[in-house]
Amino acid sequence: MENTVYDVVIIGAGASGLICARECARGGLKTLVLEKEQIPGRKLLATGNGRCNLTNTHVSPAAYHGDVALVSSALTQFPYLTCRKYFEELGILLTEEEQGRIFPQTGKSTAIVEPLKLAAVESGAEILTGQTVTVVQRETPFIVKTSSGETFRARRVVLACGSCAYPQIGGSESGYQLARSLGHTLTAPRPVLSGLVLQENFSRLAGIRAQVRLTADILPAQPSEGEIIFTGYGINGPAALNISPFIAPALDNGPVVIHVNFLPEITDPAAFWANRCARFENRRPKDFFAGLLHESLTNLLIDFKGLRKNKPMKEQFPSAVKNALNTVTAWPITVKALRPWTEAMVAAGGVKTREINYNTFESLCCPGVYVTGELLDVDGISGGFNLHFAWASGFIAAAQLIKER
Ligand SMILES: Cc1cc2nc3c(=O)[nH]c(=O)nc-3n(C[C@H](O)[C@H](O)[C@H](O)COP(=O)(O)OP(=O)(O)OC[C@H]3O[C@@H](n4cnc5c(N)ncnc54)[C@H](O)[C@@H]3O)c2cc1C
Repeated sequence: MENTVYDVVIIGAGASGLICARECARGGLKTLVLEKEQIPGRKLLATGNGRCNLTNTHVSPAAYHGDVALVSSALTQFPYLTCRKYFEELGILLTEEEQGRIFPQTGKSTAIVEPLKLAAVESGAEILTGQTVTVVQRETPFIVKTSSGETFRARRVVLACGSCAYPQIGGSESGYQLARSLGHTLTAPRPVLSGLVLQENFSRLAGIRAQVRLTADILPAQPSEGEIIFTGYGINGPAALNISPFIAPALDNGPVVIHVNFLPEITDPAAFWANRCARFENRRPKDFFAGLLHESLTNLLIDFKGLRKNKPMKEQFPSAVKNALNTVTAWPITVKALRPWTEAMVAAGGVKTREINYNTFESLCCPGVYVTGELLDVDGISGGFNLHFAWASGFIAAAQLIKER
């Protein structure tokens, strides 16, 4: 065992662990980060399709599922502008894209991971990679053991281990096990922000993108709007991902029907269709929808609703046409499953938030231990909200660690 007693050992060099390490070291704490992967921030590098969507101008509790009080406290202490300024002060140029998504201007996630890691190390934090923590012993000081047989001592410990989502790039159950061993209980983790597997076969649309509105009985009043991408198994894309946290529990009771509106901009569909029919009733179905729907979607609609391809629309009035037009704005699809952990960006569930001090992220079950990031039972929608919460929780935990030194 090393003789050194660290002020803080942080388990996990991901989003919340790295920011926490930088802040603790900057605040004068003797800081050690233990990371099981061979490089820090392995999952971070994959975020935002390798571009790292690190926060969002619209950060607010409404973008999260889980404990509103905890999320509100985190966002009040570390709001969007504080987050933006933090990364700009690390020397990173940022850019805003649609729907308030913030990315590094280089278009590469290394532009976030490297400066953050450098800042942590330059502030004095030690980062040891290839070190899987297997045991945290509740003693004074805490004893932290790794699978390679190393033992470290620490006055305080931060569990910044993330979730089990995307095991191929570092996700694991390890954080849950450590938290349990220290007295915490868990809400069972579920894969969310993952694609929707459909009963219907849409594989002929694979690769096609559409701007849509998704509605379903199980969704809150606010529908999910944005892009979906058709895949071999069903649908993916931000609008689909964002309803996955609601679909996940509903699937326990069987398949879930949702409705896709392919014309979300049209406020009065009845008037819109009446006008289009008046103008284009002599056209065949394919030509009737030209300029409105993707051609492959039109073909699917024609087959699905039994429109006759070579007959003008006016000869198919009223029922077949009415039925087809209604389908364009409320196409029923049936979700039978979510894609598995290997494709789920985030885990819903995790360490129960009522066991955490809302203002500091310190464990109420085991004082001296802090729990941050996705290991907690908080998950955000797609758009930079999950990383924002990870930064916020790591930053706030560090502030408290420095204060109580
Ligand atoms: C493909 C993908 C894309 C994503 N894109 C975005 C995006 O663009 N924007 C966004 O906001 N969110 C995104 N997310 C979600 C986001 O990455 C996470 O919410 C965030 O990284 C959570 O931060 P964290 O610090 O809690 O955990 P992580 O960043 O996952 O870090 C946890 C670290 O702990 C290490 N660890 C775990 N157990 C141990 C142990 N026992 N010993 C030592 N080390 C351990 C892990 O190896 C890991 O490095 C994406 C996720 C994925 C998988």
